[in-house]
Amino acid sequence: YGSKGKLKTGLELLKGMLRELKEAPLKPQQRVFLLRTNILPKIMYYLVNGRVHQYTLRECDKCVRRFLREVLHLPHDTPGVCLSCDGGLDIDCFESLVPMYKWQKLVSLEEVPDNLVRDLSQLPAIRKRFQLKGAQTSFNNRAEYRMFWKNKLLDNLDGFGLGEAADVPQVHSWVTDGSSLLTGEMYIKCLKIRWNVWPTAARASRGRRQAPLCDAGCRQIEGLGHILQQCNRTWDKRGARHDRIVEFVGSQVERRGFNVIKEKSFATPRGHRRPDLIIYNKDRVWIADVTICADRGAGPMALARDNKIKYYTDDDLATEVAKVAGPGAQSVVGLVWNWRGCCEKKTDEWLKKM
Ligand SMILES: [Zn+2]
Repeated sequence: YGSKGKLKTGLELLKGMLRELKEAPLKPQQRVFLLRTNILPKIMYYLVNGRVHQYTLRECDKCVRRFLREVLHLPHDTPGVCLSCDGGLDIDCFESLVPMYKWQKLVSLEEVPDNLVRDLSQLPAIRKRFQLKGAQTSFNNRAEYRMFWKNKLLDNLDGFGLGEAADVPQVHSWVTDGSSLLTGEMYIKCLKIRWNVWPTAARASRGRRQAPLCDAGCRQIEGLGHILQQCNRTWDKRGARHDRIVEFVGSQVERRGFNVIKEKSFATPRGHRRPDLIIYNKDRVWIADVTICADRGAGPMALARDNKIKYYTDDDLATEVAKVAGPGAQSVVGLVWNWRGCCEKKTDEWLKKM
């Protein structure tokens, strides 16, 4: 009991807040933003400092995930890991974090210089408050917790391609910052593509014996990866996506005072080479090529980058490029993204440098 009568449990508080958030006239991304920045920290404080049972923590997690699947119109089998990891919604998991924070609190009490506080921290009643019955702290700190979710993500078919998302976090800020640049509908569509939960024939057939092949006659299973990266029917959209990125990078470096030549073909003894961009000023020349790679089976994005660099590192090409771009020192750059929207680490470094 408290001054206002019977105290509410963390779970009851959470349910009330989620109900209010769901009824408020907000965009889905704003709901996610408010949940992460307002409701979860409040409930976390309540759970860490109050008496709580492991069961309540599990129920709180379930409530939050149910809420997210509902307001984001996600299918029921959207993996929880997509909601919890970096690059996903980065939603705190109470069941993992509350025992950890409680334990950290107890340790910090034991290290206080004041003898009285130290003695108090040894009292069974106090220790009981900071230790959950039946709960084990699996993590010593937040970094271990993040690593745990990252490994879980890599094991998951739907989340696999987001494994490198945490390397370049600023590319994914739109997922959690409540951005008003997207309409609610578009935000949800973007999330579905990002987490590979878009309704496709392969996804609909999960749990059955054989996934159906693409009906364009490609002899491949009709998953989102196939539709976006390989299918004969989508080659024009795929080309347009690539061209938009080339256009964007080209215009941005041009604004910063570099000269840009787009998609010029050069004849070499090994065939024609057509780098997307030649960027140059009076002392430097960059031969840059953009690629949007698949996320599974193709290896890490760095491999796609190395392949691009290998392809365009060619003495004859260098001589031809020097004729149009001047005698500046040349380097070859591969600019790599994957279809989930992750940016390769060195690509990001190069773009920032420019
Ligand atoms: Zn196809």
